[in-house]
Amino acid sequence: MSLSSKDRAFLLESIRNVPDFPKAGVQFKDITTIVGNPKAFKTIIDHLADRYKNAKIDYVVGAEARGFLFGAPLSIALGAGFAPIRKPGKLPYTTASEKYALEYGFDEVQIHIDAFSAIKDARALFIDDLIATGGTAEASIRLIERIGAKCVEAAFVVNLFALKGDERIKKLTNFYSILDVDGD
Ligand code: AMP
Repeated sequence: MSLSSKDRAFLLESIRNVPDFPKAGVQFKDITTIVGNPKAFKTIIDHLADRYKNAKIDYVVGAEARGFLFGAPLSIALGAGFAPIRKPGKLPYTTASEKYALEYGFDEVQIHIDAFSAIKDARALFIDDLIATGGTAEASIRLIERIGAKCVEAAFVVNLFALKGDERIKKLTNFYSILDVDGD
């Protein structure tokens, strides 16, 4: 079921824009004001649960840390497991890693190698709060597939569409965003 224009407007208003965080020039889209608003949070989880209810999702995979906020309640709503993707050195067991390029330097994400071992040929849904350049999501999708699951879709609450991260993701899997916003 698609969101009504009223719901969409309400959700857009529920995001707090913080200029110059964490550094000058960045318009940070703060989603703590979404999860801190019971109606906004429920609207998002209900919408995603409805979208994926027949998609046979075995695992929701969330990216540290804001992806956990949406991924964990969604996994319960779908009757799926949850697998975390984290920055290096955070996961205690054996991990698979994927590096990705930043404007200056690189970053890395990790997943437990046995994250999907409870279900054979698992179907995974990747989720994060926001997609900007798409680097985090692209590396995360590669990780999911490398350790043996199929990533059936990548979903985001917010797409900063001017940065065209969605184009990178569409080469790997299906792409969905609830709210498309420009960077300002
Ligand atoms: P990217 O890898 O460039 O797509 O960046 C996505 C990750 O960085 C997500 O986990 C976001 O939470 C975070 N992020 C990047 N840009 C912003 C922004 N303008 N506002 C809030 N979060 C951001």
